Amino acid sequence: MTLNLATLASNPELSIVIPVYNEEDGLQALFDRLYPALDEIASKRHLAYEIIFVNDGSKDRSAGILGKQVDLRPDVTRAVLFQNNFGQHMAIMAGFEYARGQFIITLDADLQNPPEEIDALTNELLKGHDYVGTVRADRRDSFFRKFASRAMNHLRQKITRITMTDQGCMLRGYSRRIVDLVRQCNESNTFIPALAYTFAANPTEINVRHEERFAGESKYSLYQLIRLNFDLVTGFSVMPLQIFSILGMSLALVAGSLFIYLLVRRFLLGAEVEGVFTLFALTFFLIGVMLFGLGLLGEYIGRIYQQVRERPRYAVQTVLEKK
Ligand code: UDP
Ligand code: MG
Repeated sequence: MTLNLATLASNPELSIVIPVYNEEDGLQALFDRLYPALDEIASKRHLAYEIIFVNDGSKDRSAGILGKQVDLRPDVTRAVLFQNNFGQHMAIMAGFEYARGQFIITLDADLQNPPEEIDALTNELLKGHDYVGTVRADRRDSFFRKFASRAMNHLRQKITRITMTDQGCMLRGYSRRIVDLVRQCNESNTFIPALAYTFAANPTEINVRHEERFAGESKYSLYQLIRLNFDLVTGFSVMPLQIFSILGMSLALVAGSLFIYLLVRRFLLGAEVEGVFTLFALTFFLIGVMLFGLGLLGEYIGRIYQQVRERPRYAVQTVLEKK
């Protein structure tokens, strides 16, 4: 049986990709649930699996713990170690590069995505869906976090036309075709679920459970969340720029009419000095709008700048695997 699994594992059908960043306190708990869940799928569905951990430049003992795990289960485990912190999505991208399976499932390392749900995702992939999205049934995050995501989600959906009920959940399944297409995209900033969705021919969504973080803290601050959403919107659409052109035109139109109106009043009623403060308020409002527009333009230019430098998106230090 062991021999059988080992030979199978050199040609796995199911690849699990897990980004890891400073998760030393939660990794063991993850292993304790992940391996049994996958072993069960392997024997139930006669599928060989592999797990690819990508250590995103953790500053704690995560890399060492992953190394030990590779020694413990070398038949199914590999660990890609980054030199530095390149971000969750780059870690997943690297995982895609090393994944060999026909079906690829991504998962967070903090146990917010229950490993037991992998079976449900595998089931959908086996049915022929090339993209399996997930909706967190009972989301265990703070009220503010939920509210902010819902608002951003709505806005993003309007602007980018990517319809995902729940964009934030990283427990997702992809077919080999989609992963290959995603790997061909050389974008220096990206949001993998959305990028993959643009290639999906037969997507589906399922409900999954959601749990609280097992240990440690969320690696995303509010600032990073805002950045991520900017990335999402500017990375998938130029509509914000168009909105600004339209806004500019309408404002010019309104200001023009106001000018004519004031001119007529000047001739009918004579000189007036009222409304100076209203003018101030209006001016500052417009300056605000202009600065925002400038910043938005900067977002796009910044992306172009990052893109034209063509630096490697991540640097792999070593890959731990059974030789
Ligand atoms: N992560 C990563 N690099 C980063 C930040 C996070 O690889 O720079 C990993 C992290 O270890 C976890 C997953 O991405 O496995 C999701 O991160 P987190 O739980 O902090 O995000 P949240 O659940 O709060 O959105
Ligand atoms: Mg989390």
